[in-house]
Amino acid sequence: MQITILGAGTAGVAAAIALAEQGHDITIYERSNSMSTMGAGIVLWPNATYIMQKLGLLSQVQAVSGKLLSMKRLSQTGENLGKLDIKQLNELMGYSSYSIFRHELQSILLQKLDSLGVSVCYGQRVTAITQADKQQAVVTINDTEEIVADMFIAADGRMQSIARKYINGDNTPLYQNFINWVGTYETDKDIVNELSVLDIWGTGKRFGIVPVSNKKVYWAAGMYQPEIGTRIAQNYKQELTLNFKNWPHPVAEIIAQVNTENVNKIYVHDLEPIHKWHRQNMLLLGDCAHAPLPTSGQGACQALEDAWCLRTVLNQNNNDIESSFEQFTALRAKKTSAITYAARGFAGSVFNSNEQHCRQRNETSKRTDYAAMAKGMSELWGAGLASGA
Ligand SMILES: Cc1cc2nc3c(=O)[nH]c(=O)nc-3n(C[C@H](O)[C@H](O)[C@H](O)COP(=O)(O)OP(=O)(O)OC[C@H]3O[C@@H](n4cnc5c(N)ncnc54)[C@H](O)[C@@H]3O)c2cc1C
Repeated sequence: MQITILGAGTAGVAAAIALAEQGHDITIYERSNSMSTMGAGIVLWPNATYIMQKLGLLSQVQAVSGKLLSMKRLSQTGENLGKLDIKQLNELMGYSSYSIFRHELQSILLQKLDSLGVSVCYGQRVTAITQADKQQAVVTINDTEEIVADMFIAADGRMQSIARKYINGDNTPLYQNFINWVGTYETDKDIVNELSVLDIWGTGKRFGIVPVSNKKVYWAAGMYQPEIGTRIAQNYKQELTLNFKNWPHPVAEIIAQVNTENVNKIYVHDLEPIHKWHRQNMLLLGDCAHAPLPTSGQGACQALEDAWCLRTVLNQNNNDIESSFEQFTALRAKKTSAITYAARGFAGSVFNSNEQHCRQRNETSKRTDYAAMAKGMSELWGAGLASGA
């Protein structure tokens, strides 16, 4: 089949690999002029590791990532709020969890795509999608060229997906009242002494640090912010210094190295779950179908699951587009909606600015049965994996 993919983020490139390997003829259009990534790093939780193995990319991931041991929760004054044993989660799910910089993950995916003889067409923006007839969509690129394909996979992200608007009628992202500053930090001295995630909670604030090695971390500082405001890169260091003063080590060290090039500030949005992901020969994949908040830790992991699931359902339905799309939606919508709602609930608590709520939340965290939590995570994240979902 001639398959055209719109967007070369995690979802688009992973789908291109999975489908090129099946012998499909792939074209992939991307509006940016070069590889771009949202966020500093990600954790490939066991469900995503499983997909990377299926894509034949696990050893490449292992070469540049960190194998995580645990996640420690602290209060902003350094009080111990509990610990999730990531090794236990890994054992329950059958795969390890790896932390990786976003640009490394994207490079691994793009190199594999290149080895399959597919290259991304950069600087090609989808500017319109219309209906040709009952079966076919037509996509306009850069306001000039109209293209058709046997099948379109739309993977144009969460913020202004033209495909979501075409399929669902609305594509408005929902601001969820918090900001994230995200960045990376590498140095020749040890920043941490073990590969454990540090998740530090304050009142309406959070600072997360994920080691990729002892000398290399990515981090996300988050804060309740009811209105969308400005993004002035020169101010980021000052904003962070002001808001995370006297937080536990190594927060101050990380903030001290912040500069305008290695930090991004994001007013964080998600999308309301919908269950209509296809129209004619076009299917939504990744964030434009389901965009959970970063508090899920699952956005990119779910994009990878989508790619593998699509390959599976196309095989099972002998490449029949309509039945494949229907099966895909049935397999993927429930799980991704549950992840989106859970991430909103968690964000509502972790970025809550009420002191009493935060005190109670911290007490609850101390009493949490983290072994049971790992089990719950493994059930949600592992759901449907064996059937290709
Ligand atoms: C602050 C933040 C932190 C995050 N942290 C994590 C994390 O730790 N772990 C995790 O798993 N997930 C995380 N996520 C979520 C993760 O980034 C996304 O879920 C994931 O990138 C989805 O991939 P995607 O390919 O669907 O979308 P994207 O990565 O957004 O890719 C969409 C692509 O489409 C292109 N595009 C858009 N419009 C057009 C157009 N009109 N024409 C052509 N191309 C177009 C874009 O340029 C882009 O390259 C985070 C998200 C945010 C906002």
